[in-house]
Amino acid sequence: MKIKKNYILAPGPTPVPPEVASAGAWPLIHHRTPQFCAIIKEVAQGLKMLFQTQHPVYFMASSGTGVMEAAVANLMSPGETMIVAQAGKFGERWGEIGKSFGCHLVEVKAEYGKAVQPTQVEEALKKNPSAKAVFTQLSETSTGCVFDIEAFGKVVAKTDALLVVDGISGVGAEPCFPDKWEVDCLLTGSQKGVMLPPGLGFISISPKAWKAVDASKSPRFYFDLRAYKKALDSDDSPYTPAISLLFQLKEALKIIQNETMEGMWARHSWLAKATRAAIKALNLELFAERPGNILTAVKVPSGVDGEKAVKVMRDDLGVTIAGGQGSMKGKVMRIAHLGYMDRFDITTAISALEIAFKRQGFPIKLGAGVAAAEDILWQDPQ
Ligand SMILES: *Cc1c(COP(=O)(O)O)cnc(C)c1O
Repeated sequence: MKIKKNYILAPGPTPVPPEVASAGAWPLIHHRTPQFCAIIKEVAQGLKMLFQTQHPVYFMASSGTGVMEAAVANLMSPGETMIVAQAGKFGERWGEIGKSFGCHLVEVKAEYGKAVQPTQVEEALKKNPSAKAVFTQLSETSTGCVFDIEAFGKVVAKTDALLVVDGISGVGAEPCFPDKWEVDCLLTGSQKGVMLPPGLGFISISPKAWKAVDASKSPRFYFDLRAYKKALDSDDSPYTPAISLLFQLKEALKIIQNETMEGMWARHSWLAKATRAAIKALNLELFAERPGNILTAVKVPSGVDGEKAVKVMRDDLGVTIAGGQGSMKGKVMRIAHLGYMDRFDITTAISALEIAFKRQGFPIKLGAGVAAAEDILWQDPQ
């Protein structure tokens, strides 16, 4: 076929709404001006809504991993103990960052696809009473599993340790209430639930965590949160900000404000439910024990080459989903329902998956998954 459309249905980068895309082309204005300070003031307000926190949310020019590094560099000192509650590739990243900052690492693990249990975190805290912080994920994007952050918060808040949550794929899609749940540091990136191109990281710090920021002996300069705090207190940024991305953020936050956070969560939950229904109707299995609103990870059935199916979907059909990472390569396929997506993104993804499986001779009834999804999607979310 000569004409092929491209659909990006992976868990980051996610599609960017047209209003947001065009804001990236606005003429630049200088960042040390009252006009730009007004934009910072507006987005800082919007970010508190996005994060569901009363505390300031700092933004910096980096991908999500940059703000993960900022969390470690600002909250931990060399030699201190970090507990990492992990069950996937992104959880493992916390440990890698911690090790490069000289932290002592205690890993609390569950199998890929499973959720780390709050009791496991509780035990680790008991065994390591001097642990400085617990690092984890709201949504482990490599497996599609969401963790019970509210329960983690209850366990951690009983101790002096801090709770640090990577919400890079979760924020915007999965409800999270850092103030109520006693999350000390929440962070996200721009290219997932926030509907922006990659390049911005966001991080919030509780008053309890600020004490650790002030006391940290880790080397830090660009990511020193004290500089961001000082600047944001006067609607400013410490270094040249990603001006165009901030224009885009302003537009994205308008869309989010208009939909409301409750509306965003309901839409994501609806799309996730339809995707799971489609997968079950195709007699396929879900990979995650606690699948979230962000993405649906599907186990690749025997008789299907999972890597090849993802490639066929992308290169022949124009539909980009994600395969498995690390040891999950070829074993899972991940369909995102994240950010700027609606019902037809789901039917497109399912339809492409059906076609890719059919082309490998896998017994599949074309349309069965789409029909099951439509059974949920024909009505708007309640
Ligand atoms: C995408 C993702 C990251 C990595 O973010 P980058 O922007 O690629 O640096 C980390 N954690 C989670 C949970 C993610 O989904």
